[in-house]
Amino acid sequence: MRATLLVLLLAGGPLAHAQSYTGPIIDVHLHVGKAAPGAPNPATGQPTSANTDADRQRLTLEQMQRHRVVLGLVSGPDEAMASMRAAGGEKIWAGAFLDDGATPLPPPDVLRTAFESGDLKVLGEIGAQYHGLDPSDAWFEPYLALAEEFDVPVGIHTGLAPPGAAYGCCPEFSIGLGNPARLEPMLKRHPKLRVWLMHAGWPYLQETKAILYMYPQVYADVAVIDWIIPRAEFHQYLEALMTAGLGDRLMFGSDQMVWPEAIGQAVEGVDSAPFLDAAQKRAIFHDNAARFLRLEPRQ
Ligand SMILES: [Zn+2]
Repeated sequence: MRATLLVLLLAGGPLAHAQSYTGPIIDVHLHVGKAAPGAPNPATGQPTSANTDADRQRLTLEQMQRHRVVLGLVSGPDEAMASMRAAGGEKIWAGAFLDDGATPLPPPDVLRTAFESGDLKVLGEIGAQYHGLDPSDAWFEPYLALAEEFDVPVGIHTGLAPPGAAYGCCPEFSIGLGNPARLEPMLKRHPKLRVWLMHAGWPYLQETKAILYMYPQVYADVAVIDWIIPRAEFHQYLEALMTAGLGDRLMFGSDQMVWPEAIGQAVEGVDSAPFLDAAQKRAIFHDNAARFLRLEPRQ
């Protein structure tokens, strides 16, 4: 092992890939809401570091700060969202949320007002899959029309959910409705929409490649899969998307829910990918999202 390291050091090249990323990060996938005291972290089994609602918010902001997260796209219930915006200021962009629970998306006229005022800057996370809904069906059309009109980015949950979701929160949950290929009809109808696949469609690798390749305006985040699924599986998936030439449309996300420490776990998940060089890490952690969100350079 040591001899190999020395050779690499002398060669000078491959070690550049192993350098930790130290620049700014945009987390396009965060949530606010009630704490779940004691809930075991799905990756470590350790109880969550947030035992109260206030802790969940405070520790999330602390973790953002610690990991240089300069902007977070956040969704959650109205009250928690308002509190997070008050505490986080410009670092927080609020999204309209269709969660895995009983709260519906606000009606389009309410969203119109929120997009107009800037209270909401994102349509998402849209967890249609949890509700047995197809994102290309008629129910979503008025929302997509609004997003197009206000040029608001649209984040759609794809791929996985907590194991057993269909027996717990979400009897309407369907694996097939998380297939990114389901987005094709709506992408055809709305070519100007700024859409991203949340969770990068995992485990639908082929369909994710197909959608990203054929619809070059579409981006994807690697939230949750960068810390919850086995690390080797995540790296294999990420590498497959990179070798497919899609590295300029992948964005960092944590999907921090009730475990503030997940932000660090997610950062580590991407940062530890041995096949990413410094420029590719910078693109995934920051630059791709900055382009997708059309941030001004000062932001
Ligand atoms: Zn999700």
